[in-house]
Amino acid sequence: MNLILLGPPGSGKGTQSSRLAKEFKLAHISTGEILREAVRSKSYLGEKANHYIHTGQLVPDEVMIEIVQERLKALDCKEGFLLDGFPRTIHQAEMLEAFTRIHLVVALKVEEEECVQRLASRKTCPGCGLTYNPVNHPPKKENVCDQCGAVLILRGDDKPETVRERLKVYVKLTAPLIEYYQRTGRLEFVDGTLAPDKILQNLKNMLQSKILLWK
Ligand code: AMP
Repeated sequence: MNLILLGPPGSGKGTQSSRLAKEFKLAHISTGEILREAVRSKSYLGEKANHYIHTGQLVPDEVMIEIVQERLKALDCKEGFLLDGFPRTIHQAEMLEAFTRIHLVVALKVEEEECVQRLASRKTCPGCGLTYNPVNHPPKKENVCDQCGAVLILRGDDKPETVRERLKVYVKLTAPLIEYYQRTGRLEFVDGTLAPDKILQNLKNMLQSKILLWK
């Protein structure tokens, strides 16, 4: 099963993707995480991507397409994968169609204003990338990651001015993907405003019903 999870920044797609990928034993491919790792390790890709990430812009399509095409060749993708943060433009989606088959696209629905508020208070683990929110998903110990014990930080691109830019970019370049996938009958919506556990349950139910239909 090859899936895409779509949603604006702050919709919770990172959190839900990693939980869902574990549940269904899918390779979780977060392009944002791949880029942040490249920035941390100061690789050539990281140097190129840093400026785009910190100004809320998209890394050029050609760079992203090559990264994903390579990543999908890995053994762990053979039994299925979940793309989180890719595609982000129609061109990326068209190129993806050319080198793999996507069975289902799930769009998390959250209003823009709620995304802005969530990102303003979001804290991220610099170690494992997990994200937390004081309102609906606080860490067990204040400011400490439940999973790896690292001290949580405010992600550089979660600053209010960058968040606004990321949302603008989402509306202009990424939101048209909803219609793109709707046209091919592969799109499902899930309410992203509920509690994280409830969203995960709804995602699981929806996927399980799809799997039964495909069998
Ligand atoms: P994310 O963690 O998915 O919110 O991604 C963080 C940042 O990485 C984005 O704001 C972009 O600058 C960059 N990025 C991640 N995925 C892509 C993509 N598919 N295309 C272009 N830029 C991307």
